[in-house]
Amino acid sequence: MADKPKAGFYGFTGCAGCLLTILNCEDELLDIFNAADVKSFLMANRANFEDEPLDVAFIEGSITTEEQLEKLKKIREKSKIVVAIGTCSCYGGVQAMYFGDGNFEKRWKQVYGEGKIELTEAFESKPIDEFVKVDFYLPGCPIDKKQFLEFYSQLVRGIPPRLPHYPVCAECKWNENECLLMKGKLCLGPITRGGCNARCPSDNVPCVGCFGPADEVNINSEMKLLLERNYSREEIIRRIRTFAGASFVRQFSKLLGEEAKK
Ligand code: SF4
Ligand code: SF4
Ligand code: SF4
Repeated sequence: MADKPKAGFYGFTGCAGCLLTILNCEDELLDIFNAADVKSFLMANRANFEDEPLDVAFIEGSITTEEQLEKLKKIREKSKIVVAIGTCSCYGGVQAMYFGDGNFEKRWKQVYGEGKIELTEAFESKPIDEFVKVDFYLPGCPIDKKQFLEFYSQLVRGIPPRLPHYPVCAECKWNENECLLMKGKLCLGPITRGGCNARCPSDNVPCVGCFGPADEVNINSEMKLLLERNYSREEIIRRIRTFAGASFVRQFSKLLGEEAKK
């Protein structure tokens, strides 16, 4: 990577909360912009150098239309490194909760009726790696500011960043929290990737899985524990699907329903 890498920040379908998290790095914002030659970041700067090749593209949001797909492919073509930032981009996010259930058309009609949308053709929300190669993932809904800064500073210095491989439970234990799952709460900490410093359980709120699956997830054990605590299978699956539905469906399609398909 050149001394000062060329970077671009892009947003597709999502709430823009991840890009806002970056802009909210008030004390570090100048460093972020000084460390790279930022060619595109529409939330921060109107200047947009569409045709410039990039060293690294940060992409927020899932892909839901043909128009977005074309733009995503162009970004991939001109970028040496593509980073998916946020759970929408990494795993599809809440809008991909029912990824692969085969009922997209039905859900679409429930919201929009029979009318045809003329502007662009929409399809079921999908994470960006359904369409292009992704080099690095930075999940979270939204991403964690501290984790982003570490990740970014490594990337712009040409160091491959690494995510925590352990689950939220590890961070929860380090924070000496009382276990909510053991108290009968539906907590997804055992199957969710760490990196948020157990943000929710530290505030006595069960983890809803917004960082997506951890490495080597033992989903059967989580399922068994929750069933023993009288949660229905349907309720557990709905919670598992909420943020990282697309990712869990890819890994555990049988568990989440025989009909689940990509
Ligand atoms: S991951 Fe969450 S915070 Fe980020 S864009 Fe998607 S919905 Fe918004
Ligand atoms: S509260 Fe949740 S995250 Fe914390 S140890 Fe228990 S199951 Fe794991
Ligand atoms: S504890 Fe779970 S739901 Fe809360 S921020 Fe961390 S990964 Fe997301």
